Amino acid sequence: MDAEILAVGTELLMGQIANTNAQYISQRLNDIGINVYYHSVVGDNPVRLKSALELALKRSDVVIMTGGLGPTQDDLTKETVSEIMGKKLVLHDESLKRIENYFKRLNRPLTKNNIKQAYLPEDCLVIKNDNGTAPGCIIEKENKIVVMLPGPPSEMRPMLDDTVIPYFKSKSQEKIVSKYLRIFGIGESLLEEKLMHLIEKQDNVTIATYAKEGEVTIRITNKSNDEAVALRELAHVEEEIAKVVGDALYSDEDKELYQIVGEMLINKGITIAFAESCTGGLISSVITDIPGISAVFDRAVVSYSNKSKVENLGVKQETLDKFGAVSRETAVEMAEGIRKVAGTDLGLSVTGIAGPGGGTEFKPVGLVYIALASKNGTACKELRLAGNRRKIRNYTVLNAFDMIRR
Ligand code: ATP
Ligand code: MG
Repeated sequence: MDAEILAVGTELLMGQIANTNAQYISQRLNDIGINVYYHSVVGDNPVRLKSALELALKRSDVVIMTGGLGPTQDDLTKETVSEIMGKKLVLHDESLKRIENYFKRLNRPLTKNNIKQAYLPEDCLVIKNDNGTAPGCIIEKENKIVVMLPGPPSEMRPMLDDTVIPYFKSKSQEKIVSKYLRIFGIGESLLEEKLMHLIEKQDNVTIATYAKEGEVTIRITNKSNDEAVALRELAHVEEEIAKVVGDALYSDEDKELYQIVGEMLINKGITIAFAESCTGGLISSVITDIPGISAVFDRAVVSYSNKSKVENLGVKQETLDKFGAVSRETAVEMAEGIRKVAGTDLGLSVTGIAGPGGGTEFKPVGLVYIALASKNGTACKELRLAGNRRKIRNYTVLNAFDMIRR
C-alpha cells in the first residue's frame, strides 16, 4: 500500500506554521510498513483542493488529509472530498452528542456552525476526537482510502495513533516491527562505514541511518507474518550493531540523550548541579524538561563574567589571569566550585567560545571545555566544535549530557 499526505491550510502555504503533521504521519506510516511517496500542501481553496486530491487519488492507494475540518466557512475539506468520492454528507448522531458534551464541559454555547462538524460522508468510518470538536473519518471506495483528520496536532496525533494506525495494521497480515537506536559520538558517514557489512547483507531486516545535529538514529525494521520471528531477527541485528558502535549507542527506545541521563540520575539517586558559562542555562533548561528531576537536580549558576566565576563558584582570580576563562583549569575549578557550593554528588561546568567573535589563533571559536567533578576527582574534556553560535551551544549541551552518561 502506497500513501501520500495532503495537508490543507493557507497558513501552511504562507509559512506561518510548519507542516509538522506530515512529518508525524509519515513516521507512523513508515513504522507499519506503508510507504509514503508524496507530501503536498494546498490552501483553503476548493478548486485547488479538488485538483490536488484528484491527483493524489490517481497515484496513491491511500491519501491522508489534515486540516480544514473546523466549523468556519473556509473549512471545506469534507465538502470537497465528499463531492469527489461521490458521497453525501449526513448527520452523525454520536458525533453531534460528543460535540454538545464538549461545549457543555467548557460551559460555552453551541453555535450553528459547530453542528456542521457532525456532518460526515455517508458510510464512512468515524474517528472520534477526544481533544476537540471535529471528528475525522475514513472513506473507502474502489481500492482507494481517504482519511481526514483535523489540523491541530494535539487532536490529530491521538486520532492517528488510536484509530488510523490500528485500522491499517488490521488490514495487513504482515507484522512490522521497528526499533530506533540512538547514537552519540560517531558521525553518520563513519557510522555507515562501520555498519556497511550489515547494511550490505541486510535481507529481511532493513537498516537506515538518519543524522540530526550531532546525533544519529539507526532505524531497523523487519516484516514477517509471525511477530515473534520478526522480533527475534530484529534483536539479532541490534546485537550486531551494538557490537560495532559500542557505548556510543545510548538508547534503543528512541529517547533523547538528556532523558536517558535524567532517568539514570533519578534511578541511581545521583545529585547534580551545573555551572554554565557559554550555554547560559541551556543545560538546566533541557534537564528540567524531565518530570521528577527535582529529586536530583539541585541548582545551576549561569556564570558569564569572570567576577561571577570568582564570587559564585570560588574560581581563583589567579587561574583566570593565568589561563583565561576558557581553559581547562577554569572549567575544573568551576565544576569543583559548583559541586562544593551545592553539596551535590556531581558538579558539571562548561566554558567556551560560542562565536562569532571572541576567537583567537590559540583559542578559536568553538573551543569548549566541559568538566565533571565527583568524589573521585574531576575529568575535563576539550572540544573543538564547528558551526554557528546556536550549533556550538547545542553541541555543547549534547556533549555535556554524554559526559554525565559515561
Ligand atoms: P479547527 O477546528 O481548529 O479549525 P481544522 O481541522 O479546520 O481545525 P485548520 O483550521 O486547518 O484545521 O488548522 C487549525 C490549526 O491547526 C492551525 O492553525 C495550526 O495551528 C494547526 N495545523 C493545521 N494544519 C497543520 C499541519 N499540517 N501541521 C501542523 N499544524 C497544523
Ligand atoms: Mg479551521
